[in-house]
Amino acid sequence: MAIRKIRVDDDPILRKKSRPVEVFDDRLFQLLDDMKDTLAKADGIGLAAPQIGVLRRVVIIDMGDGCMELINPEILETKGEQMEDEACLSLPHKAGKTLRPMAVKVRAQNRNGNWVLYEGSELKARCFCHEIDHLDGKLYTDALAPGEQVYRVEE
Ligand code: ZN
Repeated sequence: MAIRKIRVDDDPILRKKSRPVEVFDDRLFQLLDDMKDTLAKADGIGLAAPQIGVLRRVVIIDMGDGCMELINPEILETKGEQMEDEACLSLPHKAGKTLRPMAVKVRAQNRNGNWVLYEGSELKARCFCHEIDHLDGKLYTDALAPGEQVYRVEE
C-alpha cells in the first residue's frame, strides 16, 4: 500500500483517455489499494486512476459508507438534472457549479471481474459522472452549468 502523487492542474495526463482493464490480477489490486490510501490521505470522496498517472479505467468512490471499486464503469441511464458545486482533487483551491443528471444507473466490474449495478442520485450521481469523466480525459470544468465559471476557494 502506498500513497501516490495526485496529478494536478494542467498535467497533460488528466486530458488523456484511459484504456479498459482486461486483466484482474495483483497489479490491479495494488492499484486499487494505493488509490484507497491516496484518497483517504487527500480526504476526498472519489478518485480516478488517471489522477495518479495510471491510464486505466478504474475509479473508487468513498462517501463514508464503504469504498466502491468501479472497474470499466459505464453510465447506463440518466434521469433529471441538477446544478451543484463541484470540486476535484486535481484542481486544488477551485470549484464550480456543474450541470449533471439528478440520478444515474452505472454498471462496473468489481476486482474479481464480475459486473455490478449501482444507482445514485444527488451527490452520488455527481460523483459517478465526475469520476467516469476522468477516464475520458474530461474534468468538471467541461461540465459547468450555463453561465457558470470556476471560482477560487481558499483553504
Ligand atoms: Zn476529479
